[in-house]
Amino acid sequence: MAEMNKQPCPECHGTGNIASDVQEECPTCGGSGKVLGQTCNKCHGMGSITLTEEKTCPTCKGSGYILEKY
Ligand SMILES: [Zn+2]
Ligand SMILES: [Zn+2]
Repeated sequence: MAEMNKQPCPECHGTGNIASDVQEECPTCGGSGKVLGQTCNKCHGMGSITLTEEKTCPTCKGSGYILEKY
C-alpha cells in the first residue's frame, strides 16, 4: 500500500470551491444602462453587473484536499 499524504488543495485553499467574477448583462436595463431614460439603478448605468460565481474546484473536485504520493 502506497503512502498517501493529504494536502490542502492549493487551488481552492481547502474550501473545495473557487469563486470567480462573472460579468453579465444587466437584466433590468438589458445592457443599455438606462431604464425609461433614467440611469439604471441596478447597474448604475454600466449596462453590466458583476456576479460572483462559486464553482466546484476542478483540481480537487470539491473535496478541498489532494492526495500526494510520497
Ligand atoms: Zn481545490
Ligand atoms: Zn442596468
